[in-house]
Amino acid sequence: MKPNSDDVDRLEINMIACEGVGLCVHLAPSDIVLDHWGYPIILNERAASPKQVKRAAAACPHRALIVHRVDQPASTPDHS
Ligand code: SF4
Repeated sequence: MKPNSDDVDRLEINMIACEGVGLCVHLAPSDIVLDHWGYPIILNERAASPKQVKRAAAACPHRALIVHRVDQPASTPDHS
């Protein structure tokens, strides 16, 4: 079965790159909330709202929100 383009395998936040701007929380409120210091916490590793999460990842000014899709091919050694 071909994966749906909206399938999201896993969300990840690069906390080194994240500046706690909070834009992602406003764009994907069903999957991300802010902690007491204004940094994001992922509620659902498998996004409940994939389109919102992708929009949030694209809008992150520090490219700190990473969306891993299920249809990304696993790295395999090249034996040719
Ligand atoms: S938008 Fe990016 S930099 Fe801002 S809180 Fe979210 S992950 Fe961090």
